[in-house]
Amino acid sequence: AAPAAPSSPGAPARSVQPGRRGVCLVIAAPSGAGKSTIARALRARDPSLFTSVSVTTRAPRPGEREGVDYHFRPLDQFRDMARKGDLLEWAEVFGRGYGTPRKPLLEALESGRDVILDIDWQGYRQLRKALPEDVVGLFVLPPSLEALESRLRGRDSDSAEEIGKRMRAAMDEISHWNEFDYVLVNEVLDQAVEEAQAVLTAARMAVRRRRDLHAQVARFSPAE
Ligand code: 5GP
Repeated sequence: AAPAAPSSPGAPARSVQPGRRGVCLVIAAPSGAGKSTIARALRARDPSLFTSVSVTTRAPRPGEREGVDYHFRPLDQFRDMARKGDLLEWAEVFGRGYGTPRKPLLEALESGRDVILDIDWQGYRQLRKALPEDVVGLFVLPPSLEALESRLRGRDSDSAEEIGKRMRAAMDEISHWNEFDYVLVNEVLDQAVEEAQAVLTAARMAVRRRRDLHAQVARFSPAE
């Protein structure tokens, strides 16, 4: 079958519209709630979405790739980047450094590209301060405590001690849910993806983001 035309019903709006600034969509959730899966699905629908690749001091997990999943860096380099202001936000999670490179994110937004970030509440708070006009926050909740627990146990790369730590961190992350603009409960993945897409679509339409329409709208004003 021919690929759907961009204007066909159900097709997502283009994530690049020259003239308008990009949306900076932060998706946060406790680990195990499915936010990476949701972000991946949004990207699959619209490959022109820009993904911010974070810097981290933690070791790669099996299958993770340098420059794709993370930029893996030693602690001294990470601290150096933070000190020089190369990171728009950074935080320590589970005793490891995580941060968002400044330049690629700002360039994407300025060129009208929408950006998805998978960061924690600390990063969201800092980013919101740094880019108040651009940032939209979406929080993903697991359907239940039991579901969260079983999803965290499903990751065999982590030890029991690590899982216990993640469970406590999950509770802490969830306690910040009401700082976000939108929230969804990830019970059925397809529905969660639809809902996340709806948030992104609505954010693109915010009047403050469509200054590029001023000239066009001005033509509607009555002639003097
Ligand atoms: P993981 O080690 O499982 O990939 O990520 C652990 C946590 O760090 C997740 O909650 C993830 O969202 C968060 N994280 C990943 N990258 C960043 C970042 O650049 N900044 C902040 N503040 N948190 C991040």
